[in-house]
Amino acid sequence: MSDAPEETLDPADWEELRALGHRMLDDMVDYLRDVRDRPVWQPPTPAAHALIAGPLPRDPSPAGAVYDDFRAAILPFPTGNTHPRFWGWVMGTGTPFAMLADMLASGMNAHVAGYDQAASHVERQALDWLKELLGFPLGAGGLLVGGGSMANLLGVATARHARAGFDIRANGLQADHPALVLYASTETHSWVQKAAELLGIGTANLRRIAVDAEFRMDPAALRAAIAADRAAGRRPFCVVGTAGTVNTGATDDLVALREICDAEGLWLHVDGAFGALAALSPAHRDRVAGLGGADSLAFDLHKWMYLPFEAGCVLVRDAAVQRAAFALTPSYLRPVGRGPAAGPMEFADVGVDLSRGFRALRVWMSLRHHGSDTFGRLIGQNIEQARYLAARIDAEQELELLAPVAMNVVCFRYVPTGPTRAGDALDALNTEVLLRLQESGVAVPSSTSIGGRFAIRVAITNHRSRRADFDLLVSEVLAHGRAVARLAT
Ligand SMILES: *Cc1c(COP(=O)(O)O)cnc(C)c1O
Repeated sequence: MSDAPEETLDPADWEELRALGHRMLDDMVDYLRDVRDRPVWQPPTPAAHALIAGPLPRDPSPAGAVYDDFRAAILPFPTGNTHPRFWGWVMGTGTPFAMLADMLASGMNAHVAGYDQAASHVERQALDWLKELLGFPLGAGGLLVGGGSMANLLGVATARHARAGFDIRANGLQADHPALVLYASTETHSWVQKAAELLGIGTANLRRIAVDAEFRMDPAALRAAIAADRAAGRRPFCVVGTAGTVNTGATDDLVALREICDAEGLWLHVDGAFGALAALSPAHRDRVAGLGGADSLAFDLHKWMYLPFEAGCVLVRDAAVQRAAFALTPSYLRPVGRGPAAGPMEFADVGVDLSRGFRALRVWMSLRHHGSDTFGRLIGQNIEQARYLAARIDAEQELELLAPVAMNVVCFRYVPTGPTRAGDALDALNTEVLLRLQESGVAVPSSTSIGGRFAIRVAITNHRSRRADFDLLVSEVLAHGRAVARLAT
C-alpha cells in the first residue's frame, strides 16, 4: 500500500474558486450585454493561436491564469452567432438565462439515462411541453439529443424498424430482403444522406424528389417514384418531409405527404429543424400545417428557440414503436425494483446514447422563465423581419430576391446597373460582396446556390436582431456591391 497523499480535483481554497467564479459570471454578463458593440466576426489572431496551442500540460496551472488565457485567446473569437447581425447558416443566439442554467446542469452533473432522479422528471416534463407546443399527443415518445442531425437519424431509424417488414434488429440488412427505399426532396438537408449511409439504406436507395417553384416536394413525383420502386421489387418505407428547408425556408405540403404515406403504408418523418418552431407563433403556425400528423418529428431548440448548443429533439407518435426500435437491458442496467434504478433506463432505451447530460434543464428553465408565448412572439418577429428585408430588397433596383421568402430565410444578390453581366460574373461578384461583408465584421450572412446561382443567404433565428440591423445590411451590400462592380469593369 502506498502512503502517498490522496488527491482530488476539488480546489484547495474554495474561497479563491468562488471569487474566480464571480469574476467569470460578471465577465460573461458584460460579454452578452455588450455583444452589439463588437465586430460580428474576426479571425483568431496568431497570438490567440499560440495561446491555445502549446505542449501537453502535464503540470497544473493556476485557475486564474487559465481563465486569463480564455479571455485573451478564446472569448474574443467566436463565429459571431450571439451577435444581432449574425444570420449565417442556421444558428441560434443563446440566452443569458440559459447560460446560467447550463452552469447549474454542469454542477449537478446529472447522468440522464433514466434513474429516479429529478433530472429525468425535468426531461420528461420538457418533452411533454414540447409535444403540446408542436401538436403531438402527450403519450408520444420523445428524446432530447445533441441536434437535428441526430434527431433526424433516430426518426428514420425508428421508421426503418417499424416499416422494414422484417426483424431489422436481428438480421440487420444482411439477410436477403428487398431494398428499403427512403424518399426526401432535392431540398432536404444533407443529414439525410448521412442517415441513409449509416442506416444501411445506401444513397442508391435514397430518392431525391423534385420540388416546385416554391421549393416544396412535388407530391405527384413522389407518388410516381414510389410506384416505380414497387414495380422494381423494392420496398418503400419512409418519406422525409421538411418544415423549413435550409436553403429557402420552404415547407413541404405535409398534409399531402401524410395522405400519400397513409395510402402507401409508409412512415412520415418530418425534419423541422428550425421550421417546426413556427408552430409556436399563432400568427404563423399555418405555415407549417400538418406537423402533428408526422409519425416522427425532429427539431432543434438551439436554432429557433435560441437556446445554447446543443439541444435537439425527436418526437415519435407511437412511444412503443420508439422503444421497440432501441430498448435493450443488459444485466448491469436491469431494473431492481427500488432505489435510484427502480425502473428501466427510459431515455437510454429510446436512442443511442447511454451517458446523457442534463440538457433538459436549459429547456425546462427557459420555458419556465420566458414562457412559450414569448418564444412564439420572437419567432413571429423574425418572420416579420424577413418580410421587411425582402421588401427593402424589392425596393432596390440593384438587389434581386432569388427565392420566395416562405418564412425566415431571405436569398438575394447584388446586380449592378449598366450592361448585363453573365451569371458566372454575378456569382463571383456576389461571393466577393459576401466575403467583404463577413470580414468587415458588420454582418455575417452565409451563402447557398439557388437554381445554380450564388445567393447571399440571411437566415433569421436571432432574438437580438432589430429592423435597423437589416437596414444596415442593405446599405452595406449596396456599398460593397458598387465597389466590387467598379473593380470588375
Ligand atoms: C440545421 C438543420 C439540420 C441539422 O441540424 P443540426 O442541429 O445542425 O444537427 C437538419 N435540417 C435542417 C432543415 C436544418 O436547418
